[in-house]
Amino acid sequence: MIPLETIRAHILDAVPDLPAVERPLGEAAGLATAVPVTADESVPPFANSAMDGYALRASDTEGASESSPAVLRVVGDLPAGRAPDMTVGPGEAVRIMTGAVVPDGADAVVMVEATESSGDEVRVGATAGVGDHIRSAGGDVAPGDRVLETGTTLGPAHIGVLASIGHSVVRVRRAARVGVLSTGDELEDAASPGVLEPGRIRDANRPMLLELLTRAGCDSVDLGIAGDDEELIVATLSEALESCDAVITSGGVSVGDYDYVKAALDRLGTLEWNQVAIKPAKPLAFGVVDGRPVFGLPGNPVSSLVSFELFARPALLQMAGHTRRFRPEVDAVAASDMPRRSDGKIHFDRVTLTTIEGSPHAERVGSQASNVLSATASADGFAVLPDGEGVRSGDPVRVMLIHAAANH
Ligand code: AMP
Ligand code: MG
Repeated sequence: MIPLETIRAHILDAVPDLPAVERPLGEAAGLATAVPVTADESVPPFANSAMDGYALRASDTEGASESSPAVLRVVGDLPAGRAPDMTVGPGEAVRIMTGAVVPDGADAVVMVEATESSGDEVRVGATAGVGDHIRSAGGDVAPGDRVLETGTTLGPAHIGVLASIGHSVVRVRRAARVGVLSTGDELEDAASPGVLEPGRIRDANRPMLLELLTRAGCDSVDLGIAGDDEELIVATLSEALESCDAVITSGGVSVGDYDYVKAALDRLGTLEWNQVAIKPAKPLAFGVVDGRPVFGLPGNPVSSLVSFELFARPALLQMAGHTRRFRPEVDAVAASDMPRRSDGKIHFDRVTLTTIEGSPHAERVGSQASNVLSATASADGFAVLPDGEGVRSGDPVRVMLIHAAANH
């Protein structure tokens, strides 16, 4: 058995970088920036009001209070979007809306709630300080500011920031196009009609892996099911690798007699067949065919999921230029005992997280068997149990979050 970190480091070293492309903002979400982005415009472009109220000279309100308000003459009205055609002189005020340009002469805004208007006068019942409720030009972003680093996974707010500085396209790394192939003579598509023949099971991994890829920002390609037939698997993989950046297979990588994925990879490119010191998901075949990685994940659905999370996802995110390749982890409290036996492996037990008195508490989902996907389906994360006897109720336990928005 090889340690997880050794194999993962090797995989991350072996996968290629995908090229950079330009994308309009509407097609950039979930992709990673290929270059840093620097602003050439100010946000906001001009000093503007943070409140609905009155723009005035702070000195005119000195000593003003509710019982003895300052009385100012209102010399204009400024809605957002209009350039001021007035200035504010001593003893004067301009009615101003949130986002409107602060007119020359004014150095403060008093919110409407602290005023009382009558005719062309306003009574200001508060003392204003210079700069009150004024958002300065460039206060959010100034020209020359670096607003995004290379490798930023673009989310909705990043797209908003790009729009705010007048960028309608962004240089990103292309999404990885990834094929998904299920292997096994026993597999039947979910859509196959009728009762399953004896010995046959439904293919759970392919729909699950396709969705995991989508959530990792990849373009997924459904390569269907291949039976346990070396020639067929070789042909399917080599055809897929003509148009895909990577392929994920499941099944056919353990030590059984009918494990043809390893044989196919061996013929097509380099094959590394590993026994990883983890549970579940011990077997992993990793190969590179003409520079394109193939992840041969184990067939048991929970193992497939865990192996995807630990190996394929970080590698695919790295290929597409994301700085954040790994899932976030939290320190949780074990809500009940999580015993395990010492076997030289790190265990990734599937757990739910519940917040009790402000701290996350981890509880194993029902079954931890690698074939029982229905229990794992409710998991929020994997409790990382290093080799040993496990943890007791109340002990700290590290949890890798598998639904957190690390990337999307
Ligand atoms: P294998 O790694 O091919 O020996 O498969 C290990 C176990 O996972 C066997 O019980 C398979 O029937 C099962 N299995 C393999 N592929 C799938 C799949 N796509 N969906 C559900 N179960 C699978
Ligand atoms: Mg099989």
